[in-house]
Amino acid sequence: MNSPIWHPFTQHGLGEPIPLVTRAEGAVLHTADGQRIVDAISSWWVTTHGHGHPRIVAAIAEQAQRLDQIIFAGWTHEPAEEVARGLLDIMPVELTRVFFSDSGSTSVEVALKMALGYWLHRGEPRHRLLVMEHSYHGDTIGTMSVGARGAFNAAYEPLLFDVETLPFPAAGAEQATLDALEAACRARPAALIVEPLVLGAGGMLFYPPRVLAEMRAICARAGVLFIADEVMTGWGRTGTLLACEQAGVVPDILCLSKGLTGGAVPLAVTMASEAIFQAHWSQDRATMFFHSSSYTANPIACAAAAANLAIWREEPVLERVADLSRRQRTRLDALAGMPGIHNPRALGTIAAMEIGGGGGAYLSALGPTLMAHFREHDLLVRPLGNTVYVMPPYCIGDDDLDRVYAAIGEAAERFG
Ligand code: PLP
Repeated sequence: MNSPIWHPFTQHGLGEPIPLVTRAEGAVLHTADGQRIVDAISSWWVTTHGHGHPRIVAAIAEQAQRLDQIIFAGWTHEPAEEVARGLLDIMPVELTRVFFSDSGSTSVEVALKMALGYWLHRGEPRHRLLVMEHSYHGDTIGTMSVGARGAFNAAYEPLLFDVETLPFPAAGAEQATLDALEAACRARPAALIVEPLVLGAGGMLFYPPRVLAEMRAICARAGVLFIADEVMTGWGRTGTLLACEQAGVVPDILCLSKGLTGGAVPLAVTMASEAIFQAHWSQDRATMFFHSSSYTANPIACAAAAANLAIWREEPVLERVADLSRRQRTRLDALAGMPGIHNPRALGTIAAMEIGGGGGAYLSALGPTLMAHFREHDLLVRPLGNTVYVMPPYCIGDDDLDRVYAAIGEAAERFG
């Protein structure tokens, strides 16, 4: 197809086919040329309940007719109020304020700005941020600054601000991360930002809850703000509503997006502790939080999020998550002994492994080969280099899951 579209994270020079998707339901996509594709990565990790959940579809349609858009600076609307109250009901009680934005990246930008604003308004300006090696928090200049540096941000390197990077807490080397954090906290940084338990785009790297809990404790003792980016891990992905729960951790600032609307429309929130809100609160306009975008808290997106919250309240979502986790684990275990499969691992609904080599490498030569292999099998599986992962909607059926794992096994045989 001759299209003027410039696609994200796509090398058009490779001439890879770009399927035209016309319809989706549950864990299945349909293309214009009649292919039935299994969506094994929840359309970039967003579609939690499956495409086209009837309650979310109905909420969007109804809201579009009632109130489509309204400026949010100094105005409000029912869906936003409902979402904010609903979040307070299910998120840690320490997080009392909800700031809306439009994507995972903006939720992180907002978190960073809140952290720096907090220190400024307390009369103790701090600018240094601590980050974890291999992290990914988005593709804006701010979020790239707190993420891993590499080919995908080399061109912008001079614009990225300086951060202090802690080593990833790999098995057996966790203490080095904690020691580095203790040392870094002595220089009074503003905040530490982490992806709890799973580093997603950095290669589906897992680390234990104990390390997350200890990192949180070190920050609390040192008076350094702790930001949890649960954009990927939130909404049941790791087996619990939040990954932080598994470590008994409550952050000062929490970033949520992706599954916030069940994956149907873009929306994000940054939740903050009362202390962070109060640091910006005064009678002086100069200390208000200077952040917005035109579509902040768009009512249609908020209606979808309100429907998602109702689904979480009224449907057995965590049971579906537990069921999918078991079904994935069984299939992963069956692959685990194959020679081409390395480091098979799973947490909640996320399963991952490397094919054709021990360590994952984003620009591995095998990446495009694997991508083409899964396309040929009518699957949406988008490996991170040679790291193949499965992160399906919670409603995926057994037959479709079997197809995904059979294709992974075949890939390991052919290319492993
Ligand atoms: N943070 C994490 C942990 C993510 O995984 C992502 C996206 O994958 C983002 C932030 C950025 O979210 P978005 O792509 O919605 O801007």
